[in-house]
Amino acid sequence: MTGARKRSAINPSRRSRREKSGARFQNLADALAQIGRSFYQRGWVFGTSGNFSAVVSERPLRLAITPTGLDKGALEAGQFLEIDEAARVVRGNGMPSAETGLHLAIVRTRGAGAVLHTHSLWSTVLSDVFSADGALALDGFEMLKGLRDIHTHEHREILPIFENCQNIAQLATQVEALLKHEPAVHGFLLRRHGLYTWGQDLAEAKRHVEILEFLLEALGRSRTGV
Ligand SMILES: [Zn+2]
Repeated sequence: MTGARKRSAINPSRRSRREKSGARFQNLADALAQIGRSFYQRGWVFGTSGNFSAVVSERPLRLAITPTGLDKGALEAGQFLEIDEAARVVRGNGMPSAETGLHLAIVRTRGAGAVLHTHSLWSTVLSDVFSADGALALDGFEMLKGLRDIHTHEHREILPIFENCQNIAQLATQVEALLKHEPAVHGFLLRRHGLYTWGQDLAEAKRHVEILEFLLEALGRSRTGV
């Protein structure tokens, strides 16, 4: 008999919580896999790039997250992992995404319900073009109204740009410090790497990716005249 079965035989209410959490994990994994495949189709997560997560429970903190190294065009719900607040795998088989530390940092500092990360062409190009400024501005576009709490096109959205780094713990510390002091930002860029954004729930995070990717492409095309 497994430890889980022993516990549930003793405590039915705990078993019920486990079942509910398992069902929520499955639902989120289904939705995340679908989003991943659709982002691949739109050219935002080619190859094994990008990673996605959603909060299964807040206390204790549990995230459904993509494992490392998977083709995002063929992502399936059964491939997702559940991790705890220290990035230890508590459900599923495999290694969580190499950038898990950034997902946990965003969830901790912003109370996000989902975090989505893309490696699109325009986020890669523009994060390099504007890297010396440390941020880029998206200004005066109607599509800005798709971002949480933005109700007019007369808004200047700042996307901070971090230097890319393979030391994710170090990067997570920088990201966490910035997000604590800049409550208005809806996302950030990693130089020559990609976009991170989040939402209160998965639907909002997905909308933020669509809005920010659209705006980055609009800015890029207007600068290059294409
Ligand atoms: Zn990445």
